[in-house]
Amino acid sequence: MLGRQPAERAESRNDATTGAEIRLQGVSRAWGDTHAVCEVSLTVPAGSFTVLLGPSGCGKTTCLRLVAGLETVTAGTIEIGGRDVTHLPPAARGVAMVFQSYALFPHLSVAENILFGLRARRVLAAERKRRLDRAVEILGIAPLLGRRPAQLSGGQQQRVALGRAIVAETPVCLMDEPLSNLDAQLRAEMRREILALQRRIGLTMLYVTHDQTEAMSMADQVVLMRAGRIEQQGPPATLYADPATRFVAGFIGTPPMNLFPLQRTPRGMVIAGTDGPPLLPAQDLAALGGEAIGGLRPEHLVVADRGIPGTVQHAEYLGADTILSCRVGAADLLARLPGRAMHPIGSRVHLRPTAPVVLFDADDGARRAIHAADRARGAGPAPAATDQDDTAPDHTGSDDTGSEGPDPAAKAFA
Ligand code: ATP
Repeated sequence: MLGRQPAERAESRNDATTGAEIRLQGVSRAWGDTHAVCEVSLTVPAGSFTVLLGPSGCGKTTCLRLVAGLETVTAGTIEIGGRDVTHLPPAARGVAMVFQSYALFPHLSVAENILFGLRARRVLAAERKRRLDRAVEILGIAPLLGRRPAQLSGGQQQRVALGRAIVAETPVCLMDEPLSNLDAQLRAEMRREILALQRRIGLTMLYVTHDQTEAMSMADQVVLMRAGRIEQQGPPATLYADPATRFVAGFIGTPPMNLFPLQRTPRGMVIAGTDGPPLLPAQDLAALGGEAIGGLRPEHLVVADRGIPGTVQHAEYLGADTILSCRVGAADLLARLPGRAMHPIGSRVHLRPTAPVVLFDADDGARRAIHAADRARGAGPAPAATDQDDTAPDHTGSDDTGSEGPDPAAKAFA
């Protein structure tokens, strides 16, 4: 638990567990030349589960610590439940925090660890008992109460850390990579438990991870950070189906989106280093800074009689499907094929896209609209009308954003 309050205080039942909105406006934190968090503006709706996601060093933990009050902002404001907490100490913010390390006291029993923060805040004994009973019931840890942390498994220690957050009965819970010390199976189990817990209690959760599977499977809202800034935020399905940048496309998904250089030909855009077939209408490369990057999800490539010619480099059988890696011109493409796909290494296959290629600017990585108008200006026939007319998906229905409607894969997350 965060901080201590010296005065005795009977915290009432009514304080507890109604989520509060968190709002960051133009929040920055720098140490000298290190700009850990830059002008981050973000709203976490009351009672929702928001995940701060991103690679190591992108500023996730600093963001969380700023909300907790464990760091001070260099600019911007933070509100919790409509109250400006920017300069309040941690204990006055109404947040509980669960750390990666669990931060349990080795010499205290499970019960004493769970109640430590309440004792420090001089919460009355009857109220402590009520909260402990509730946490024990929610977490199913009654048999563990007398044990010391050294006598617990990693998953049990994690539950005790969750217990401390539950008894705090704060409207906001902040979690910093709480599952990274657990093995893969236990992580999956704890993901479900934490989500069920958050839904049951109704508190507002802000959760830091670098694991996009955790983010996709738990979050109402994913905030993907890069170099201290928000790259894209939205529901998991939006980041998956409509990545705003090449970085998002390459970060979200297991495996992530295939990204490959495109080359303009009179017939349309082909994968660089190949003779086609064209995957898109010819684009105005000058408008794209002279180069373009295409994107296709692995599940949107199938092996067919005709399509993009490639050489099989590797096949990874995963049980339900096989990830086939193929060399295509200057690119390596991954295709997710159902079941056990038998394609010997070195064999030639044709890959056929089943969804439109997504277009990114090679310079700034931003998603670009697919300009069907280029076709009308004489840039060549529509790909769907070429001799490889069964290769390229039809783009004629595309809107000006380049988004052709919901990605079928995204429905899995809806
Ligand atoms: P990770 O997933 O590895 O924990 P992160 O995304 O949580 O990374 P932060 O821990 O927030 O990243 O760090 C962001 C940047 O700020 C990093 O470059 C880090 O070195 C720097 N940083 C963090 N804390 C401090 C500090 N107290 N003093 C100086 N630089 C810091």
